[in-house]
Amino acid sequence: MKTYAVKEIYYTLQGEGFHTGRPAVFCRFSGCNLWSGREEDRHKAICQFCDTNFWGTDGENGGKYTAEKLTRKIIEQWPLDSTPFIVFTGGEPALQLDSELINELKTIEAETAIETNGTIELPEGIDWICMSPKANTEIVVRTGNELKLVYPQEGMDPKDFETWNFDYHFLQPMDNAEQDANTLICIDYCKNNPKWRLSMQTHKYLNIP
Ligand code: SF4
Repeated sequence: MKTYAVKEIYYTLQGEGFHTGRPAVFCRFSGCNLWSGREEDRHKAICQFCDTNFWGTDGENGGKYTAEKLTRKIIEQWPLDSTPFIVFTGGEPALQLDSELINELKTIEAETAIETNGTIELPEGIDWICMSPKANTEIVVRTGNELKLVYPQEGMDPKDFETWNFDYHFLQPMDNAEQDANTLICIDYCKNNPKWRLSMQTHKYLNIP
């Protein structure tokens, strides 16, 4: 029986992008195809600016689950009497998220979202697709709801994505030692290119767990 390796599952507010401030259950899958997740491998990773711990299954509610058990565990975290909003993230969630799990969540009428690097085809039926392109990769997810470009990113020009079929285009300052300067660059870019909106990682500023 197929199992899914999950780093953590928790109830929070979405911190960035279109759904900023919205209550959500985050399901963080283990593993990514652009970095092993180990610090000692970072220099040889395709994506070197990752700010997420997606290694292993030792986080809150982490573990290996079947589709049915994972659905139950996710829904247990939703405390409201309303449609659960589930954000699949990682790591790269498309390595594991499949139609079996999507369909299981549909049976309880959950609303699903994914945050993907866009290098792996997605299963049908995800309600909200947020794709965050990374330099030096081949992107196959060219349609969706939200394109969120971490910026500035060497080799990535926002102009190259403006015609891609997404409802919203966001620039998000890269979180590194130059973060303040990166934020100013993003603000300036959005002011001069209204196709783009600013996305801030509010959960980091506000310490939203
Ligand atoms: S693609 Fe996303 S999860 Fe993978 S290494 Fe890059 S930022 Fe981290």
